[in-house]
Amino acid sequence: MSEKLWRKNLINIEPYVAGEQPKNENIIKLNANENPYPPAPAVAEVLAKKDIFDLKKYPSADAVPLKAALAERYGLKAENVFCGNGSDDVLATAFRAFFNSDKPIFYPDITYSFYPVWCELLKIPYETKPVDGDFLINVKDYYPENGGVVIPNPNAPTAIGVGKDFIVDLLEHNRDCIVIIDEAYVDFGRYSCVELIEKYDNLIVTQTFSKSRSLAGMRIGMAFAQPELINYMQAVKDSYNSYPLDQLAIETAIASLKDEEYFRETVGKVKATRDRSAAAFREMGFTVTDSETNFLFVKHPTIPAEEIFSYTREKGIFIRYFKKPVIDRWLRITIGTDEEMDKLISAVRELIESR
Ligand SMILES: *Cc1c(COP(=O)(O)O)cnc(C)c1O
Repeated sequence: MSEKLWRKNLINIEPYVAGEQPKNENIIKLNANENPYPPAPAVAEVLAKKDIFDLKKYPSADAVPLKAALAERYGLKAENVFCGNGSDDVLATAFRAFFNSDKPIFYPDITYSFYPVWCELLKIPYETKPVDGDFLINVKDYYPENGGVVIPNPNAPTAIGVGKDFIVDLLEHNRDCIVIIDEAYVDFGRYSCVELIEKYDNLIVTQTFSKSRSLAGMRIGMAFAQPELINYMQAVKDSYNSYPLDQLAIETAIASLKDEEYFRETVGKVKATRDRSAAAFREMGFTVTDSETNFLFVKHPTIPAEEIFSYTREKGIFIRYFKKPVIDRWLRITIGTDEEMDKLISAVRELIESR
């Protein structure tokens, strides 16, 4: 076979691998950090009442009505808000807009596995900073000069969050680069740093409708920052990706934001189920990190994680196992309904007792 010289110029990329999406309806799916409850009832109403003649029209190019609704919900101005197709799009846009230094960007070694994918794709130099034996992030690792910082708070897949002191410390030691705090799980956690964007002109906070608002299928994410940064992100999005949020995404997101009571109720239920499930796993001998998210990160002292993963999978319950250094003895379990968690806990107990 003749050598194809063009091959050496092809993109070399290892794509992000998402949790399996099984076809079987009876599967209990606890592997993608999706919400077990439906979106707010007003979302169904929007979809039922949608005038299909509207679909002839292009959506608002920069999601103007949603920016206004988000600004109101978070006590900001519309100029402080950027919207994208899921926070993955928002984060990728921020990486493109702000990480153009020769110096490496810093993020934890155990974290959301999309960050290295974007760095490779966009040729951004990066350096990961090791978390400690308890998966805690050491803020001092982020003091040296760098090309930017990304920290998820709470972190994934460890489920561990940090408080205001950590974020302020981080920002005080990083005045000359952009700091991104990825708050995908913050609604289940203790501290959101959106309040700090007023003081720190280099801070970007990203959030999503995928987890706490049950709208992963709609692809809606946002960033909060000072207007100058938002304008840069909007310019990047409008340059390379002319796929704004679609009409249904904008309208369902606004409907979701209006039902604060439903939001609080479902987030509260997930947190209660989480804390109860964490106790059950600890009682079965697992180490469980203190979760501030809608998932648990657990390790059994003797039974290999992969074996638990395969066993529950056989029973039709999908959880997440990462065959990766440092975390390959751990499992990430999305919080389902109480009933789903009880089935999982029974299956795991059965496995423990059978050995
Ligand atoms: C789920 C997740 C996201 C992205 O979610 P979208 O569905 O793209 O909004 C971003 N960061 C972390 C840490 C996540 O877990």
